[in-house]
Amino acid sequence: MLTDMHVAIIGGDARQLEVIRKLIELDARLSLIGFDQLDHGFTGASKERLDEIDFTDIDAIILPVFGTNSEGEVETIFSNETVVLTEEILSQTPEHCVVFSGISNTYLDGITNATNRKLVRLFERDDVAIYNSIPTVEGTIMMVIQHTDITIHDSNVAVLGLGRVGMSVARSFAALGAHVKVGARKTEHIARITEMGLTPFQLANLAEEVKDIDVCINTVPKLIVTANVISKMPAHTLIVDLASKPGGTDFRYAEKRGIKALLAPGLPGIVAPKTAGQIVANVLSQLLLELLQQREENE
Ligand code: NAP
Repeated sequence: MLTDMHVAIIGGDARQLEVIRKLIELDARLSLIGFDQLDHGFTGASKERLDEIDFTDIDAIILPVFGTNSEGEVETIFSNETVVLTEEILSQTPEHCVVFSGISNTYLDGITNATNRKLVRLFERDDVAIYNSIPTVEGTIMMVIQHTDITIHDSNVAVLGLGRVGMSVARSFAALGAHVKVGARKTEHIARITEMGLTPFQLANLAEEVKDIDVCINTVPKLIVTANVISKMPAHTLIVDLASKPGGTDFRYAEKRGIKALLAPGLPGIVAPKTAGQIVANVLSQLLLELLQQREENE
């Protein structure tokens, strides 16, 4: 249980509601900042303004998936209040206070480094990324169905990258009956693709490999679906780019050639916000329990 742990949850979307539910279940003391317009009240959690919080008493700060913007502003869809996390606020927290965020940026790295507070980037963790690949795959299937006039079954699909998302995408499209080839650059990835019963190819040969595909799903966060690659694709090819912004596709050239190319960020939060929230909530609660245990051992 997280009894006596005081956690500030600052901003966020529907996913954060699952985190709040889970932490209340574990008996944490919650201060909710940026939730004043949320109709739902949570027993055991108080909605507060940033300037009402005594940060000297906060054990953990939970930020939304995107953390802060480059000026420190935190996205608060349940409030009109502008909430800015500053170095000054962090410096008031006890030394053991940990900041949790989905991802980070130079601003957030800067203020946590300057105040010597630990920052946990949840989306960099393998467990979160692998669990998140499940709703990502479902969203990808949805997009392919919406934007093609053929079945996934018997279609030719190229998946680029065999990371946490690529592996789940490749496996699921193959299970739906697609002919899946997967591009990678490491020999161990080529070996794994072969073991999975899929067709491997070296990403260096991408331009050669796209000549007969119906769908190209990119997970590599580098420009690899270049104008040269796109020029070799059949005109009906659909490109779904899952890599983080700006994606790995030359969208300008795709449009010029009349090939449909879609950048599809944030699919878990779109297609399954509740599950996406539960994924974060489960990992987060485990980390907070570990934190509490460490603190108790040190005392
Ligand atoms: P990951 O596990 O790090 O996998 C990335 C893959 O890209 C690996 O196979 C990696 O291969 C390859 N790669 C990276 N740089 C490369 C390069 N320069 N050339 C060739 N291959 C390269 O990441 P992930 O968790 O699968 O996520 C993939 C992307 O999807 C990320 O940008 C992530 O933010 C995004 N994402 C999007 C959604 C969504 O809803 N659209 C959801 C989750 C994640 P090596 O091992 O050879 O480097």
